[in-house]
Order: sequence, then structure tokens, then C-alpha cells
Amino acid sequence: MSAERHIAIVGGGLGGLTLARVLHVHGIASTVYELDASPTARDQGGTLDLDAESGQRALLHAGLLEEFRLLSRPEGEELRVLGKDATVGLRIPPPEPGESDGRPEIDRRALRGLLLDSLPEGTVRWGHKVRSVAIGATGRPTLTLADGRTVEPDLLVGADGAWSRVRPLLSDADPVYSGLSMVDTVLHDVTTRHPAVAELVGQGSMFALADEKGLVAQRNGGDRIRVYGAAKVPEEWSRSGIVDPADPVATKKRLLDLFPDWDEGLRALIADCDGPIIPRPIHALPTGHRWDRVPGVTLLGDAAHLMSPFAGAGANLAMLDGAELGLALASHDDLETALNAYETPMFPRAEAAAALSAEHLTGFFGPDGPRVALDTFSAATAGGAAR
Ligand SMILES: Cc1cc2nc3c(=O)[nH]c(=O)nc-3n(C[C@H](O)[C@H](O)[C@H](O)COP(=O)(O)OP(=O)(O)OC[C@H]3O[C@@H](n4cnc5c(N)ncnc54)[C@H](O)[C@@H]3O)c2cc1C
Repeated sequence: MSAERHIAIVGGGLGGLTLARVLHVHGIASTVYELDASPTARDQGGTLDLDAESGQRALLHAGLLEEFRLLSRPEGEELRVLGKDATVGLRIPPPEPGESDGRPEIDRRALRGLLLDSLPEGTVRWGHKVRSVAIGATGRPTLTLADGRTVEPDLLVGADGAWSRVRPLLSDADPVYSGLSMVDTVLHDVTTRHPAVAELVGQGSMFALADEKGLVAQRNGGDRIRVYGAAKVPEEWSRSGIVDPADPVATKKRLLDLFPDWDEGLRALIADCDGPIIPRPIHALPTGHRWDRVPGVTLLGDAAHLMSPFAGAGANLAMLDGAELGLALASHDDLETALNAYETPMFPRAEAAAALSAEHLTGFFGPDGPRVALDTFSAATAGGAAR
């Protein structure tokens, strides 16, 4: 593809940055328009396990796999599945040093930093919110920034996540509330300040699922533990004031009321948290979401196939999408041929992962959730997937 083409990527998440990096590796410039004011403007969330066939493959194409290995935490592959009384139903130990099974963990902040540091200065335009997009009179996509400036690229890539501004150019689909909402919080300095919680969670991830609810915790770098509480609640719950940033004490009490007869060690994940408590209602695009080609426009990552987090796939797929789109653009001079080459395998791949995510959400938070979780994680360990 001509290096002179103007490629505009809306969104500097993992997917958009992977695309920009793979293009750069192939000598193709791009511009990433990102609404955040700076790389540190927002907490990037917890840890991710990168799958060999998706996230790690993307990093291979990005020329960053070795750097990733240095930053990753193979011991984070430890997994525990507990009952609400804290009895351990399944414990998968961390791999022996040098024997990772292929899904090492990395903090999102570190992974995003790795990608950002690999891009030429100025590639990401921070504080550039895209307000709207349209197909202009010339037939080319046009994006309008929040300050009123317009940009008319040859290729517009929507890598702008769940509530994509680019998606309406391609599709009428909107994310649908899954019926499950989560809260996300963190405990700091766990070794010294919260040793019992540190012991309960171990070095990796801990799932406690019961009563159609869940407490999930994962070890992050910097001696932190990230906690997710999950419950089936109406969509309005997250906006109802139940989670009140100005009153963490009352917020914790209201959240703990959702887990009244759970083991005190598990309840401590909420009771002892010392980071902000952030509501995360879980939405998904329809499984199998796809679109007909519109010249010069495509989507990747959550913008294309938002799914619930219960197959551990969204970030991995966003990165693979970014890498494969970059490779397709580098391999084909004709833009539409490149976009077809990217989208044709992406659609069924995303559909399979979205179906698995939906199945896991229904199973984990259904009446038989603890057994489904045990079966799923036992099988995943045997088969090496689905976490
Ligand atoms: C609780 C939870 C746990 C998860 N756990 C996992 C996991 O373990 N493994 C996994 O693989 N996935 C996981 N996911 C899914 C994963 O977080 C997403 O799939 C992934 O972040 C999608 O990447 P993305 O680049 O497509 O979008 P995003 O990460 O959402 O990035 C989009 C970017 O676009 C920017 N943006 C948005 N609108 C605009 C605009 N108008 N103008 C300019 N910029 C804009 C945003 O600021 C953001 O930086 C989890 C998700 C949740 C909610």
C-alpha cells in the first residue's frame, strides 16, 4: 500500500495502537486520534493474559514479543476457583520458572506503554476527541473533532471501543446490556497491608462464583490486587447512586449487602479495597455482528465485536485485529482488497469468541454457576484456553 495514504485511527486503546505499530513496522504512517488528554489520564484497568494465537501473535507482528516477555508475569497464570465459603474447588498452580503454558499475564498499563513507546513521536494525538464521522461529498470518510476541525483520510479505522463514533457508518447495531454489572476496584500493598487477601488470591486469578453473583480477583504488578464484583442487576443500577465516589464507606456497605453470607475473607476483597470503585455494566454487540463494505472505513476490537469479558478474548482479539489489518494494508496496494482480506477472517473469529463469552456469562452467573465454572476452567486448563 502507498506509504503516502492518510490513515486515521480513532482510538488509542490496545487495538488502535497495535495497528499503528504494525503499520510503522512496514513503513506506513498513521495518525491515532485519542480522546484521553495523556497516556496517564485514566486508569487502564487490571491485568490481561495474552493468548499465543492472538495477543502474542499480534505482538510478534509488531516486533515486540521479546519486550513483552520481559514485562510479563508467567506466575500470574495461577488460577483458583472457590466457593462462597472460600473452599477451593480448583487450583491450578503457577508454572515452574521457564515453563509458562503460553498465556502469561501483563498489566494493561505496561502493555499500552510498550506499544506507545514503540511509535514515532506525534503518532498519537492526545486530547483529540472525534465528535462525529460522515461520508463527505467526495465519497471519502470525514471525521470532525471536538474543536470543530475536520479530517478527510483515505482510510478511517474505528478503534474507539464499545460506544464507537465510527460504527454508525457501517452498521445500525448498538451494544445491548447483558443483565450483569460489575464493579472494579483495587487493593494496594497487599503483601504488607492485606496479607490474608494476598494469600487467598495467590499470584494469579481467583474466581468465586455463587448465587448468580461473583467476586473475582487478580494479582496485578506493583503488589496490587484488582477486584471485580459482579451481580445480575437492572441496567440503571450503575447510575442509581449505589456506587457513590464521594462516599466509599456507604458504597462498600451496599456492595457487601449483595454478598451477605459469603466468607469474610472473600468479603474483605470489597471491605478492604482502597482504590476508587468504578461501575462497569457489561454490554455486548449482537453475536456475529458484521457489515457490508463501505469504501475506506472499517472497525476493529470492541468497536467491531464488543463482547462480555468471560472468554478473556476482547483485548487479545483487538490486538490481533490491529495486527492483521496492518499486515493486510502492507500487503495490498488496493485499499478495498486489503479491507476485505482483513474483514473476511475477522468476522467468524469474532463470532466464535462472542458466542463463547455469552455462553460463559450465562453459565457462570446461572443457577449452576459454581459447577459450570469448575468444568469450564478444568477443561480450559486441559485445553489451554478460555480464561
Ligand atoms: C471488566 C473487564 C475485564 C476484561 N478482561 C479481559 C481479559 O482478561 N482479557 C481480554 O482479552 N479482554 C478483557 N476485557 C476486554 C477488553 O478490555 C477490551 O476488549 C479491549 O480493551 C478492547 O480494546 P479496543 O482497543 O478495541 O478498545 P478500548 O480499549 O476501549 O480503546 C478504545 C479507545 O478509544 C478511545 N475513544 C473512544 N471514543 C473516542 C472518540 N470519540 N474519539 C477519540 N478517541 C476515542 C478511548 O479513550 C480508548 O482509548 C475485559 C473487559 C472488561 C470490561
